Amino acid sequence: MEFEDRLFKVKMDVERKILPFVEKPGRYIGNEFNIVVKPEAQVKIALCFPDIYDIGMSYIGFKILYNIVNKIPWASAERVYAPWVDAEEIMRREKIPLYSLETKRPLKLFDVVGFTLQYELHYTNILNMLELGGIPIFSKDRSEEDPIVIAGGPVACNPEPMSAFIDVFLLGDGENLLPAFLEIVYRMKKERRKRDEILFESAKTLQGVYVPKFYEPIYENGKLKGVKKLFDELPLPIKRNVVPELKPEYYPDKPVVPLVEIVHDRFQLEIMRGCTQGCRFCNAGMIYRPVRERAVDDLINETKTVIENTGYEEMSFVSLSTSDYSLLPELMSRSYELITEKKVSPSFPSLRPQTYTKGIAKFAREGGASGLTFAPEAGTERLRRVINKQSSEDDFYRAVEIAIDYGWRLVKLYFMMGLPTETYEDLDGILRIAENVVKIAQRKKVYNMEVHVSVSPFSPKPHTPFQWERQNSIEELIDKTRYLRSKNKCKNIRLDIRDPRVTTLETILGRGDRRISDVIYSAWRKGAKFDAWTDKMNFDLWLEALNENGLRVEDYTREYDKDEVFPWDHIFMGVLKKFLWRDRQKAYKEAMIPDCRPEDICHACGACDFKTIKMLIREQIDKDVKGARDGEVLSIGEETIWIDKSYQRSNVKVQTFVYRMKYTKEGDLRYISHLDLIRLFNRIFRKANLKVAYTQGFHPHPKFSFSAPLPIGYSSLCEFLDFELEEFLDPDEIKERLAFNLPNGMRILAIKRIPKQKKSLDKQINLFEYKVYYTSENLQTQVELLLSKDEVLIDKVTQDGKVKTINVRKYIAGIYVEDDGFRLKIVRDENGVMPRVDSILKILLGLNENEIRELKIERTGQFIWENGVIIDPIEDNVEENKIGVYYHEEGNLYQHAEKRNAYSSS
Ligand code: SF4
Repeated sequence: MEFEDRLFKVKMDVERKILPFVEKPGRYIGNEFNIVVKPEAQVKIALCFPDIYDIGMSYIGFKILYNIVNKIPWASAERVYAPWVDAEEIMRREKIPLYSLETKRPLKLFDVVGFTLQYELHYTNILNMLELGGIPIFSKDRSEEDPIVIAGGPVACNPEPMSAFIDVFLLGDGENLLPAFLEIVYRMKKERRKRDEILFESAKTLQGVYVPKFYEPIYENGKLKGVKKLFDELPLPIKRNVVPELKPEYYPDKPVVPLVEIVHDRFQLEIMRGCTQGCRFCNAGMIYRPVRERAVDDLINETKTVIENTGYEEMSFVSLSTSDYSLLPELMSRSYELITEKKVSPSFPSLRPQTYTKGIAKFAREGGASGLTFAPEAGTERLRRVINKQSSEDDFYRAVEIAIDYGWRLVKLYFMMGLPTETYEDLDGILRIAENVVKIAQRKKVYNMEVHVSVSPFSPKPHTPFQWERQNSIEELIDKTRYLRSKNKCKNIRLDIRDPRVTTLETILGRGDRRISDVIYSAWRKGAKFDAWTDKMNFDLWLEALNENGLRVEDYTREYDKDEVFPWDHIFMGVLKKFLWRDRQKAYKEAMIPDCRPEDICHACGACDFKTIKMLIREQIDKDVKGARDGEVLSIGEETIWIDKSYQRSNVKVQTFVYRMKYTKEGDLRYISHLDLIRLFNRIFRKANLKVAYTQGFHPHPKFSFSAPLPIGYSSLCEFLDFELEEFLDPDEIKERLAFNLPNGMRILAIKRIPKQKKSLDKQINLFEYKVYYTSENLQTQVELLLSKDEVLIDKVTQDGKVKTINVRKYIAGIYVEDDGFRLKIVRDENGVMPRVDSILKILLGLNENEIRELKIERTGQFIWENGVIIDPIEDNVEENKIGVYYHEEGNLYQHAEKRNAYSSS
């Protein structure tokens, strides 16, 4: 089959065989705002996230790499996500290969297939995706025709468990490493060099490239003794790559915006990378050193551009510890005007109590944030000293007081259990801290304070001072779980404790050597996948897989000796093993080491070379805040926050203008749910810079009123939306501004100004017309039979879940047979009740649910039927014929073509 034909076939198969039959078709269509399609590119990489779209689309790393690669003239990056089980089942049954969202290109047809390793429990999904993509699972089985499979991300800091499946690991920052690797692929493919030559060249010349097949582990009596390289030219150890500075051009000014809801559906602004607080259990805190802060000017520019190009209504300041960013007050001051004017809610996903201030509280609160998260990690000061957690309990209570004063009524707290040296007194401390939060709230006369406590078992992570530690057994952790649950008596505290088996599996996979590759393969063959999903993880399968390979859980959860070789010792992620060991010894003396940043004390961890790789800390500017212009400077505690006076306007009642719009919803957009459509319109209006009026209250939302939701899978030529603007604009101008920001499948047919409506649009429209593309010899007879009845009863489940029997016939205003199908008119009664279209089609055509899903159905008309006349909601056309013509005069029911007016021909 020709190449183009293969892509077209996948596209058709997706449309016909997957989308109508899966729970969330929006995950599989692509077609989002700002996607990049470069069919002419000579090197194509698939950026694969080993979990579903809803999760993978939230990952900022791929947004950065997608932007960087797509800026290279000869390269392109497309996105691939793991299909959920319903889609996978269809893909396997119908032999549809895993494909990219941009061009529907099967995975096998890419030059490079790149996975991000964010979490150990994604490993089986990677095998699954390779198989669905038609790529041999094992690296050794791949031929010259297969793509090069690469992987990077934090979990790649121990690449050995996945070494049998991944051809190349890219270790460390990818911003400059991935383009350099692709450049080698591009150059050497043009020279028709073999894949092994490409792998060798990249391993030899690029820092951060690890090709497992060029290295061999040495075991003695079953114990790992080291790793040897098979070629002298290669490096050992393999050093991670680090970018000295986070340059503004790495970050997309037009990130892809999903059409359907995802887990973190917001603009993520990375403000810095790295953390030097030195928590001894934290892998990210070690491998992302040193701290590299971004310039405030760059952050402000990015915020402005991204908000304009995406229409996002939420943003988060992303880093391992947001409140440690040196210039946070300046950043908040300068972004305040922008995000209040654009009505963007800011959030701070990682805050430290000691750096949590009134300024942050005010900033986040005014932006609409509702929950606040802190991670004390341990229940006592003693254990916090052991883990080197810098914040004290006093810091924490001070932060909670600020939060309560600024209106927070929900605090989320993260703790760990099973930490080295932990006692039951430390566990008691977890509940004591949570109870103290409730008491502080009550002292302030706040009685509805909610405290959500999440407790995760400790897992010893590679490249951390605690990498030698033993993990508590599952039985010990179950005992501790029971203990905590039995001690929690406070109704304001919700306790959520992670399943110890999940953490145990994380440890096995995270600390594993090459032998774990076989375990991953066996577990996957037995059915393990989506292990990161609590309801999908089957620990027994993993026990069987370990057993089959002669391994035990304890081999990986045990304590390691000082001089033992770890499977990841040949990978240098920046922090020296001797530093880690020294730090571990300090832990047992409850001795802390301070953050090397504010103190300017270097502990010689090894991360900086002090030439190109060093701390990049931004300097504080004048406290007067240079950008204040005509604003007002407020001092809040130790901070200076500039408040723009114009923001006060939002509390002033302004005149608003109501408009009605008619638009289409066709193509892939028919798989977007009504809720997703509401979110989409919010962003379309924001991108078009139209000043939509908002409702009052703590969570204001745009004043939109939609016509009745369209069932998923139906297209429409006539959807309606009423919207209210805070400015008077000519409808043509609104149409023009919106037209530039519409997704494929949406066209605006008309906009007109209307008076303020007493009833919502949904309540006004009560007559609907659908075109069903279905023909059969018996159709005419079937229609006549149905219409000849006075009563056709069906059970309908109402919104509150009750079952109600309704007479469907009463709601059918007409059925008109045409050459290529028929039109169905349905009315909604005065109580808002109306049968579903598919329930009528089942009765009329005798088809089952799946057969109906395969039909092409289009909404062709929506009308207001009032006092016996039919009114088009936007065109003011009034039907000549009264509705009774269709409904009662049976002889005329099939003469629709003659009776029809212009309204339905649009
Ligand atoms: S080398 Fe020194 S300054 Fe650099 S991250 Fe390590 S401790 Fe901090």
